[in-house]
Amino acid sequence: MIEENLQYVQETIRRAEEEAGRKPGEVTLIAVSKTKPVSMIEEAYACGCRDFGENKVQELCEKYEVLPKDIRWHLIGHLQRNKVKYVVGKAFLIHSVDSLRLAEEIQKEAKKRQTQVDVLIEVNMAAEESKFGVLPEETENLVREVSKLPDVHIKGLMTIAPVVEKPEDNAIHFHNLKQLSVDIKEKNIDNVSMSVLSMGMTGDYEQAVKDGASYVRVGTGIFGER
Ligand SMILES: *Cc1c(COP(=O)(O)O)cnc(C)c1O
Repeated sequence: MIEENLQYVQETIRRAEEEAGRKPGEVTLIAVSKTKPVSMIEEAYACGCRDFGENKVQELCEKYEVLPKDIRWHLIGHLQRNKVKYVVGKAFLIHSVDSLRLAEEIQKEAKKRQTQVDVLIEVNMAAEESKFGVLPEETENLVREVSKLPDVHIKGLMTIAPVVEKPEDNAIHFHNLKQLSVDIKEKNIDNVSMSVLSMGMTGDYEQAVKDGASYVRVGTGIFGER
């Protein structure tokens, strides 16, 4: 089942890339494996998947220990400062930085381990009460502050779009995130790259690809309901 699902999702991404006039293969699929057993990840790995997403630090660390080391682990869930020490060195990319205090903690840990950490800034595009993330209008300020940390490198922006009936309803948020990243890129801030846009989930990844996503995060569509 996982193999068929992966094929379907990859084909949908390919088609959306083409329709949007984007290069084939420009978008990377992150298989969101949270709550799913190691055996299912191994199955996806056997199909060629190397990017996996987890939303809890402990679960990411447990899976990291037992699975092949060429997997790129994406931390996509909210990160508490007291968990930073466990995930630095294991996560390939932290998608959920939304405060200077969190970024400073990551810097502290990176320095201690003499390593570099790549992060995305999580933006709450629809200003939903229930969601983490910085507001769009506060994003540039946060980027400027985080950019001063020498071992933390901003690679782009991430958003978790609202739950909607029709994926087209989220086009506005994807479009606005893309525009925000273009605006920030034009400021040429040192130590900041705006090459990555992490947006789109099972319900709306096709739309997100059309609106410029570079990573889509798909769980249910690959591994089934949680
Ligand atoms: C769970 C999760 C996903 C995947 O959601 P699906 O709807 O199952 O594809 C994507 N992004 C984040 C941040 C998540 O927590």
